[in-house]
Amino acid sequence: MAGHTDPELTARLRSLPAVHLLLADDTAKALEASHGHQAVAEAARGLIAIARQAVLEGGPAPAAAELVARLPAAVEAKARPHIRRVINATGVVLHTNLGRAPLPRAAIEAILAASGACNLELDLETGQRGSRQAGVSPLIARLLGAQAGTAVNNCAAATVITLRALCRGKEVIVSRGQLVEIGGSFRLPEIFEVSGARLREVGCTNITKVSDYERAIGPDTAAIMRVHPSNYRVEGFAHTPSVSQLAPVARQAGILLLDDVGSGAIADMALCGLPGEPGPREGLASGADITLCSGDKLLGGPQAGIIAGRANLVEKVRTDPLFRAMRLDKLVLAALEATLRLHLDADRAWREIPVLALLREPVANLQARAEALMGKIRGLSWVRGVEARRDTTLVGGGSLPGMVLPTAVVAIQPEGMSVDDAARALRRLPVPVLARRKDDRLMLDLRSVMPMDDEELAEAAKSISLV
Ligand SMILES: *Cc1c(COP(=O)(O)O)cnc(C)c1O
Repeated sequence: MAGHTDPELTARLRSLPAVHLLLADDTAKALEASHGHQAVAEAARGLIAIARQAVLEGGPAPAAAELVARLPAAVEAKARPHIRRVINATGVVLHTNLGRAPLPRAAIEAILAASGACNLELDLETGQRGSRQAGVSPLIARLLGAQAGTAVNNCAAATVITLRALCRGKEVIVSRGQLVEIGGSFRLPEIFEVSGARLREVGCTNITKVSDYERAIGPDTAAIMRVHPSNYRVEGFAHTPSVSQLAPVARQAGILLLDDVGSGAIADMALCGLPGEPGPREGLASGADITLCSGDKLLGGPQAGIIAGRANLVEKVRTDPLFRAMRLDKLVLAALEATLRLHLDADRAWREIPVLALLREPVANLQARAEALMGKIRGLSWVRGVEARRDTTLVGGGSLPGMVLPTAVVAIQPEGMSVDDAARALRRLPVPVLARRKDDRLMLDLRSVMPMDDEELAEAAKSISLV
């Protein structure tokens, strides 16, 4: 930069108020009493930096009073925690960026109960040391129809620990069509590297045959692993063998069959119009030795990775030295146990597990709610046009691509601001609202909104003013 040779610009920059001037104001003093000097000084410096940038871009220098007026909001913004509640109006029920499954009430209560002192590793009958998985393990086994079950931090961890405990130093056969990357750092070939098992690829991207697996089996083979392609589809001329086709091959060769189903549907997803979503129970029933799935996808609970199957194999996983490094903490264990208990009664699961309730909400109900919301939004100063209409939504976002459901949206055409501006204004509210955009409209998609949040959503829309 050539420096500020423009004398007029230099004068405007000089006229920016100094930090101590803002801090001398009574407003700043009151804020210091509640938030401390450091926080207020940082906020003041932040406001001056923004004002300085505006001046450099040709704007006028604000007066000290103007910056002081913005100080309370700036201090509040800095004091807010990073993780906050938001309203998910994207239509993506399982949104990885929004924390995947919203927890059932019973799971939230279990977290509260466990948050102080709790009997995590104490058997209250005997007073002796007990297992921290005494609650979840039998539930996993029962719900999945397995001899035994356990859980670790997520499905990625479940994959690593299973491969390590059962297949380290040996070969595991995987179809080339199933060598997936699941978001950022989960890439199957790399998972194999850290686990110590050797990946043996077979078949092609679109076609893998039973005979491809059979031919690859040798003295060094420990297992065949099937990975559910949960975040992509191979359409057209494509085929991979099912678990029931691979089970006899594995059994005959005396090797294991591992089934990574990912989404973890215990409930019958056909009931909400999503047939064909494979569950961990089906894999085990078809002959898999071990199944792996996530706790926070269609299971509807906290982040966790579930491992279930033959008792001796689960025991090997549980006693691996790395298991402790991946073990669940008491809050997650409490939430997972509560969620699994709800699954014991299918009707209760569909009512009380938010993911399932949202997926099963009839589109006619969504349409009625969208129309009510539209009535409250029509006529707001930032709204030029608004309509309630039917649409479709990818309820699993990018992570479960086949899951498309009908939905109802409130489609808003903003007035005096762009769709992006309106989306940003919604994100900046005290309880941020996440919408999606389509066809130059801002869409509030009710498929992912809990009915009890409709009122707050309307209030949020009302609180936006023209910028
Ligand atoms: C989502 C998914 C994973 C990763 O699960 P996380 O719980 O997010 O670690 C692994 N495999 C499959 C098939 C998945 O769908």
